[in-house]
Amino acid sequence: MNIRSYKLSLLEMGSFSLAGYSVAGEEAVILAPELDCSFDIGKCPREALTVNHVLLTHGHMDHAAGVPYYFAQRAFQGIEPGTVVAPAEMVRPLEDLMAAWARVEGHGPAHAHRFVGAREGEDYQIRRGLVARPFAVRHSSPALGFCVIDVRQKLKSEYLSLTGPQIVELKKAGTQITDRVEFPLVAYPGDTAKKNFSDLPFVANAKVFLLECTFFDAEHVRRARAGRHMHVADLPEVLEGMKNEHIVIVHVTRRTNMAEARKLLRKSLRKEIADRITFLMSRKYIEED
Ligand SMILES: [Zn+2]
Ligand SMILES: [Zn+2]
Repeated sequence: MNIRSYKLSLLEMGSFSLAGYSVAGEEAVILAPELDCSFDIGKCPREALTVNHVLLTHGHMDHAAGVPYYFAQRAFQGIEPGTVVAPAEMVRPLEDLMAAWARVEGHGPAHAHRFVGAREGEDYQIRRGLVARPFAVRHSSPALGFCVIDVRQKLKSEYLSLTGPQIVELKKAGTQITDRVEFPLVAYPGDTAKKNFSDLPFVANAKVFLLECTFFDAEHVRRARAGRHMHVADLPEVLEGMKNEHIVIVHVTRRTNMAEARKLLRKSLRKEIADRITFLMSRKYIEED
C-alpha cells in the first residue's frame, strides 16, 4: 500500500497567504486565513475549521463534501457555526443535507449552521472593509465565482490639504469627504469553462487569480467541453487582458505531468503572461506514482 501524505500547499502573497489542496474530481479547498475565508471546502481539512466564512462555488462533491463536517466539527469544538455562502439555489438542498445528516447521526436538530444564498453582483460582507463579490461562471451545475475585495475609504483629493479640525468640521456638516476605493485581492471562478473574465474589472485586476485548468492533454479537449472545464488550449484567450500579479493554476487532474504542463504553458502563452503563472500544487501532490 502506497501511503500518500496529505498536506496543504502554501503560497505567500504578501499581505495574505493561501493554503490549499486542489486536484480535479478529488478535492478543491483553498484557504485564505488572513481574509477569514475559504474558497470551497473540499473534504474540510483541519485548517479549514479556523476560518469563519466558506465561499462555496458549486455543489460537486470534490468542492462541497466537507460542508456538514465543517459545521459539526465547529460545534464539537464549541466555536460559533460560521457561514457557508453558496449560489442561492443551493441553500435549500444544503439545508436538507444538514437535516439528513442529523438523522444519519441519530440526533435531533441539525448542528448549528448558517447558509447565505449568493447572487451575481450582490456583495457579501466578510468583515468591515472586506467583501466577497459573486460573479457568473460557466459550469455544469449552478455555480458562481467569488472575488474577495478590500474596500477602503480614501480622503477625496480636494480635501488632502485640509487640517484635522477642518476635516472634522466638514464631517459634522455631513459632507461626503471620502471616496470608496476597492482593492480586489483574490478572484476564484471555481470550476468553469472558458469565459471572458477580463470583462469584469474586479476579476481582471485582482492581485491573485485562482484559475482552474483541469486538462492539459491534447486529446482531452472534448472532455473539457463536456464537463465545462478549462483546457490548456483555452488559456491564451482567457488570460488575455488579465492584469493579475499572480495567476495560480488549480484543479489539474492527477494524471497531469507537471513538467509537461509547465512546458505547454510556456509554449502557448506570451512570456509576460507565463511569467505570472504558478501552480498551487507541485508534482509531489499531483502526479500518479
Ligand atoms: Zn471540481
Ligand atoms: Zn465541478
